[in-house]
Amino acid sequence: MKEPGDEPLRALLDETAIGIKWITPDGRVAEVNRGLCRLLGYSREELLGRRYDEITHPDDLEQDAALFAQLLDGRIRSYAIDKRYFSKTGELLYVRVTSALARTPEVLRLAIVEDMRARRDAESIRREGEVRFQSILQAVPDGMVIIDEAGLIQSFSPSAERLFGYVASEVIGKNVSILMPSPHRELHDSYIERYLATGERRIIGIGRVVSGARKDGSVFPMELSVGEARIEGRRIFTGFIRNLTERQEAERRLDHLQRELMHVARLSEMGQMGSTLAHELNQPLTAITNYLNAGRRLLESQGVAGTERIIETMDKAGAQAQRAGEIIRHLRRFVEKREADRREEDVNKVVEEASALALVGVKGSGIVVRTRFGRDLPAVLIDKVQIQQVIVNLVRNAVDAMARSPEKVLTIATSDAGGVVSVRVADTGPGLDPTIADKLFKPFVTTKEEGMGIGLSICRQIVEAHGGRIMAETSERGGAVFAFTLPAAPPAAG
Ligand code: ADP
Repeated sequence: MKEPGDEPLRALLDETAIGIKWITPDGRVAEVNRGLCRLLGYSREELLGRRYDEITHPDDLEQDAALFAQLLDGRIRSYAIDKRYFSKTGELLYVRVTSALARTPEVLRLAIVEDMRARRDAESIRREGEVRFQSILQAVPDGMVIIDEAGLIQSFSPSAERLFGYVASEVIGKNVSILMPSPHRELHDSYIERYLATGERRIIGIGRVVSGARKDGSVFPMELSVGEARIEGRRIFTGFIRNLTERQEAERRLDHLQRELMHVARLSEMGQMGSTLAHELNQPLTAITNYLNAGRRLLESQGVAGTERIIETMDKAGAQAQRAGEIIRHLRRFVEKREADRREEDVNKVVEEASALALVGVKGSGIVVRTRFGRDLPAVLIDKVQIQQVIVNLVRNAVDAMARSPEKVLTIATSDAGGVVSVRVADTGPGLDPTIADKLFKPFVTTKEEGMGIGLSICRQIVEAHGGRIMAETSERGGAVFAFTLPAAPPAAG
């Protein structure tokens, strides 16, 4: 090799996987680096002096010659072509050769040779990955929506098409917020921004019940879980969406919620019953004990023979009466002591999830749901399941009340009322029946044929146990408005 540069450069050129060759004016190999030797399987000595076209596939020579002519003319400064070489063992090699003129007396042409096999492999892996991804996309039973960091939809699965009523081509490239009702529609960009800025996860990897908006504007409850991935330094978010209206899952959850509600109902009934029984039965039980004692003394004082066994029996009866009293007192304490599982919660999330669940199966009834969530509400310290039972109850009552109304608008709102958070559920039904308006929250008050009249009394118990208040009124426009408050959680210590 004549003059490829100084030693370090030479070392570098030998080290790289890219092949390099220097060609003499008569088309022979003047020098090669080790990369090219490795690629072709020849030693340097075997390549030196060889005509470069000997190792080129005959079909690829013509194109190369034409471009080389242009290079010589000065019409182009360099060119790259994909062609095939033969290795020493006769194997066909796919390479890309980039050539430029060197114009020294010994070297006319300089070329670098890239092995395209690795690239082809990468390409076919990529294509295979794409095919696999498409087949997953086709098959996932849940809706799958992929968005980028800007919230723009990158991919939209066929089941997402069915869920939302859009075809993929309509939504790809659009902001994902079109799939959400207000207020998320307006706020979603800020959610992503906040997440990218703070890394604080509110939905990613957690999963929540939220509402989705279809193309026709209707809203449905859905379970959303979001995953995150990084591709070449950029993030993508994958949302899996399960429609709760159409799924047994939904029924299961609703069923569960209702069973829990009944459980609380029964517990509080038991609580009330326990207190009442303890109170009502204590007196007769005490009387029984007293009479037994008196009878015992009478028997003793009369000194009738053979009364020991009667006295013994009466003692046993007395002990049993005492035990009955204990059982009742125990029951009362047990019910009163039931520990609630209270945590700091975001009211809006709790309300959103509960109302989404309460509206399961209500689809098609023509009810329009409006949510007005207060912003930056203080957290509340609550037993989420219990408070959700209150909301489910109020929403279900509102839906029942509007069954025959021409206008069916359900408004669910939250607000900050200074130290307390307030939740309002308003409907456009007939309003409160005046005959029961002042005892709505008492147990067993109902105007429904199949009603138990226990829902609102439990709501009141739950809300009051949380230190809040619940009230109801008929609005100016005629519908009922139920509102309850929850005290804001004390600020975290430290
Ligand atoms: P139930 O639903 O079994 O009757 P509740 O305690 O939940 O028990 O409700 C008691 C009563 O309160 C109902 O029967 C109904 O008369 C009245 N009520 C509740 N919610 C509404 C509402 N949104 N509009 C009108 N009346 C209502």
